[in-house]
Amino acid sequence: MNLMYSSTRNAEKQVTASQAVLKGLADDGGLFVPEHFPKLAISLDSLAGISYQETAYEVMKLFLTDYTEEELKYCIGQAYDDKFDTKEIAPLREAGDAYYLELFHGATIAFKDMALSILPYLMTTAAKKNHETREIVILTATSGDTGKAALAGFADVPGTRIIVFYPKNGVSAIQEKQMVTQKGANTCVIGIRGNFDDAQSGVKRLFSDKQLEEELTQEGFCFSSANSINIGRLVPQIVYYAYAYGCLLKAGRITAGDPMNVVVPTGNFGNILAAFYAKKIGIPVGRLICASNENKVLYDFFQTGAYDRNRPFVLTSSPSMDILISSNLERLLYHACGGDARMNAKLMQELSTAGRYTVPESMRDAMQDFSGGYATEEETFAEIRRVYEQYGYVLDTHTAVASSVYHKDFSETCGNVPAVIASTASPYKFARSVMSAIDEKYHSMGDFELIDELHRIAGTQIPRAIEEIRNAPVLHDTVIGKDEMEQAVKHFLAR
Ligand SMILES: *Cc1c(COP(=O)(O)O)cnc(C)c1O
Repeated sequence: MNLMYSSTRNAEKQVTASQAVLKGLADDGGLFVPEHFPKLAISLDSLAGISYQETAYEVMKLFLTDYTEEELKYCIGQAYDDKFDTKEIAPLREAGDAYYLELFHGATIAFKDMALSILPYLMTTAAKKNHETREIVILTATSGDTGKAALAGFADVPGTRIIVFYPKNGVSAIQEKQMVTQKGANTCVIGIRGNFDDAQSGVKRLFSDKQLEEELTQEGFCFSSANSINIGRLVPQIVYYAYAYGCLLKAGRITAGDPMNVVVPTGNFGNILAAFYAKKIGIPVGRLICASNENKVLYDFFQTGAYDRNRPFVLTSSPSMDILISSNLERLLYHACGGDARMNAKLMQELSTAGRYTVPESMRDAMQDFSGGYATEEETFAEIRRVYEQYGYVLDTHTAVASSVYHKDFSETCGNVPAVIASTASPYKFARSVMSAIDEKYHSMGDFELIDELHRIAGTQIPRAIEEIRNAPVLHDTVIGKDEMEQAVKHFLAR
């Protein structure tokens, strides 16, 4: 029997896992959720003795039941190979009284790689299974990290093309360089004269344009999305929480059945939701600590039960967490109201009309394992300095938000339960902020000078992702107005 998926806004229609991966979002705008949670088929003890790839198979087979063993192992093998700069794929590092789960050893040195390196294989396999013969065209608008991770994942994957739109003047110098130097004949990167919202709404328009869809079908193409609400991104993220538990067992820090707490720097709520799903399949996760930066809409929600996006948007040094609508929270709400799709649809309606909603007491009770915390910019920088000075370990700005929240608000009350802090980006990706936090004297240095200096003080290898762009030629230099996106797509597909 296959595990089926239904929409968070309408429980009636069900699809298989591979259909959910292909579709991304349900037709009613809801997110696909599994109809129940299967349990891990191997003992907790055995997690200590298996590789990342083996853990991935044990976890993913529970959720992607209509993929054969051979298909799933093929996807896993293609994704988690030497694109990662360590055999462990997601090493767990101890520093002081916490463990940092390093999710940044993939092609673009941020945690998006954990899922985006496997999504292209899950998607092309799903296309075959469902007799979809059209070429898959991934359309993405990015504010920086997702675009590059999706490009790296889909580059040269047969049967796919990828088009990424970014705001020409709205991403960091390193992020832009990473994208415009992307290799692969099936890749296309385009700057938009406008901001991220312009790029994002442009992409949404293209997705909902029925006439365009028909034209593309004629030409043998279909659009799809690599967005973080796709279950093909969520499921691979459950894996590293099971893997971290295995590492703690192996190190003798816990024995099977003991809890671990997780602390996750959160934006769209995908990463921490994966930790919740890990708990559901039987990994003993204790507290789920949701860490926010100054855009603390989730902190307020866990404090009060009221979600309110009506507030100023703050630009911080942890840009991937600068977000006021956390899409994946919708899945937690759905589970917290006992799978009541009507109730959930009503809350989402309130969010889209009034920008706010309040959940009843019963739902708050169902979310009791979650705690919220937030760190200000100052606290974040102080945490980078503290951890570097005490342990010689350098955190990126996003990880530092989580580390700060844990040490300020939770470490004293968590007793002997180990804390696993999700480390979501390499400090090399945010070298300017990280180095200025460590010492003001770095303020005036150039981007690559800072990289070399970080290498000197941290003693870690400069990632390939950074070395590659130092002298890489620009391969994508198209910049267009925000009204020219459709022509740009057609132009690229006609090549
Ligand atoms: C995307 C991202 C996050 C936020 O993760 P969500 O799953 O959206 O909550 C945190 N840190 C970094 C570096 C990211 O790229």
